[in-house]
Amino acid sequence: MPVASGPFTASFVKSVYDHRQVPSDPRPAVAFAGRSNVGKSTLINTITTGKKIAKVSQTPGKTQALNFFLVENRFYMVDLPGYGFAKVPPQVKKDWAVLVENYLTGDPDLRGLVFLLDCRREINDDDTTLLQWVVRRGLPFLMVLTKTDKLSRNQLGQTVMKMKHKIFGNEENAPLIPFSSKTGAGKKEVIRWVRNLTA
Ligand code: GDP
Repeated sequence: MPVASGPFTASFVKSVYDHRQVPSDPRPAVAFAGRSNVGKSTLINTITTGKKIAKVSQTPGKTQALNFFLVENRFYMVDLPGYGFAKVPPQVKKDWAVLVENYLTGDPDLRGLVFLLDCRREINDDDTTLLQWVVRRGLPFLMVLTKTDKLSRNQLGQTVMKMKHKIFGNEENAPLIPFSSKTGAGKKEVIRWVRNLTA
């Protein structure tokens, strides 16, 4: 049976500032991560119906939280705090790493990660560190290249090839999706991947 690709009905449950406050609930979870300004809030709002649940562009240095959304009473979407602002104090960086690493490496209900990268940027050390936290556990991740409306078809084709090679070693069915909230490109594919993961 094909996996449904309609948007999710989701509602905000809570913000968690310490990994020990993560809801103890056996329902599966899928996390969303990426550098600040990558388009994560916009993507979450695009794949869900109704009121915009994720805030667009949070201020740097603000208290960082894992935001939990319950989807169809069945699973959690977990919006991880963005990273990579140039002028973040070292303590804020440390707090981010403690919160995110503990969640990604230790949460028993986490099924995988949707990892966002701006299609005009290179993957950097922060991105790689975060990806390794889930890969070391053997959890799957979906790579989403955001804001693809900013590139020509040609440029995008080259970027997709390059990233597939770099991240997945040219694996035939590499889980990489070009996405744009402006054109709607990739929306159904992201929804299907999340549905599959949490089925
Ligand atoms: P976040 O910090 O990762 O949550 O990023 P936001 O969702 O707040 O988006 C950051 C900025 O990028 C905002 O100005 C958005 O309007 C813009 N943006 C997000 N997605 C897209 C997209 O697909 N295309 C374009 N052109 N701009 C986008």
